Amino acid sequence: MSIIIKSDREIAAMRRAGRIVATILGVLTGQVRPGMKTGELDIITARELDRLGAKPSFKGYHGFPANLCVSVNSEVVHGIPGERVLNEGDIVSLDFGAIFMGFQGDAAVTVGVGEISPQARQLIATTEATLKAGIAAAHPTARLGDISAAIQDCAESRGFSVVREYAGHGIGREMHEEPQIPNFGLPGTGPQLKKGMVLALEPMVNAGDWHTRLGDDHWTVYTADGSLSAHFEHTIAIADGEPEVLTIV
Ligand code: MG
Repeated sequence: MSIIIKSDREIAAMRRAGRIVATILGVLTGQVRPGMKTGELDIITARELDRLGAKPSFKGYHGFPANLCVSVNSEVVHGIPGERVLNEGDIVSLDFGAIFMGFQGDAAVTVGVGEISPQARQLIATTEATLKAGIAAAHPTARLGDISAAIQDCAESRGFSVVREYAGHGIGREMHEEPQIPNFGLPGTGPQLKKGMVLALEPMVNAGDWHTRLGDDHWTVYTADGSLSAHFEHTIAIADGEPEVLTIV
């Protein structure tokens, strides 16, 4: 399989999918509060998808049961929304994808529930910064490894670690296309980036060690050492100069 180059017309369609993803994530982050069940976020997502005429990317994907992933505290990714109640001081990662007119958008954000600890704040700010660093490296004179290295350097320079078992990915008509985009690596390595590539960059950053473990539900991924984890993601299109972020309102 090779990296699919999208036409301007296809990128225009992906812009619309991306805007829907960003709109719904904006609604969700505005609703997060202490005392709410994570399953309420799934209900809101289903309602908003319906309102905007889009379909969920995740529901039914390899049997995933919900419209979005909700991962709390030491949960890294792929948490299933349900009966869990959010408490003041928790951090919650919302990862959400939508399909509109045959194209996918994928994005994630981590937010605090009420007042959070200084360490949690720093972890969230750092993870968001790693995504920005990855995006800044994504220009057509660069290679894929430049993105990976920028993300890794940003996290590790601030004393955190990047998850290695899960990666970003190409995206288009399929949620997961070539290439895989590790959040660690060496600059100057990997495929040359090219205008028309559309990539979902998604650094997952741990406060402790980078190792993870899979939960008993065979979906939820946890930090192996129980430390906090945060996750940010955008779908971006490689352009002539600066990349275009597609998952924005
Ligand atoms: Mg993704």
